[in-house]
Amino acid sequence: MTDNRDEVLFIIRQMCEDNLVLGTWGNVSVKVDDESMWITPSGMSYDGLCATDLVQINFNGTVLKGCWKPSSEWRLHAALYRGRPDCAAIVHTHSTFATAFAVARTAIPPVVEDFVQVVGGGVDVAEYALPGTDCLAQNALSALADKSAVLLASHGLVGIAPNLTEALKVCRIVEKTAQAVLYAKMLGPVEELSEDDIRAMRSFYLHSYGPETCGEDV
Ligand code: 13P
Ligand code: ZN
Repeated sequence: MTDNRDEVLFIIRQMCEDNLVLGTWGNVSVKVDDESMWITPSGMSYDGLCATDLVQINFNGTVLKGCWKPSSEWRLHAALYRGRPDCAAIVHTHSTFATAFAVARTAIPPVVEDFVQVVGGGVDVAEYALPGTDCLAQNALSALADKSAVLLASHGLVGIAPNLTEALKVCRIVEKTAQAVLYAKMLGPVEELSEDDIRAMRSFYLHSYGPETCGEDV
């Protein structure tokens, strides 16, 4: 069984450095196997968090390892792992610009290339439900559809991915795009990318983008 707790701590440090969370809000998890995850403890300061503070739980919320209470959003994390087999890592933030859209209950439109590559389209807002509830988890899963991010109404953002680095990247790019869209709207109407172009860019990102050697030694 892989122990990726250090990777969780590394992602938490980056999430804090980027001001994607404030105080103890937000949470991070990574899948351990088909039935369990490592997740951040509930309501604990990210400062000084160490590997032994993380909690391993199964998808029913039973604690398997660790001494702290797991994140109050464990139902959300479990529902996303169950509903999206391609998801193995989740980052939930309360970042400012994404939250602005979540408060206005307005989807972040598909207007930027890196954004549609990484997310797969615009980011929709899940119907409102109280934090920590099954209802929030189910609403998030249905609004997420086949994309990699979803806004929680009057709450924040969730990014999912096959690994933690990618899940954090999703949150960073969504936050940057939310900010850019707000600025762009001051200049005039924003132009959405076409469905065809979004599909082409998503496919390029998933199947061809990234470093590749040209075969020559240097
Ligand atoms: P936890 O501290 O329990 O993870 O909750 C924070 C949060 O973001 C709730 O939505
Ligand atoms: Zn939250």
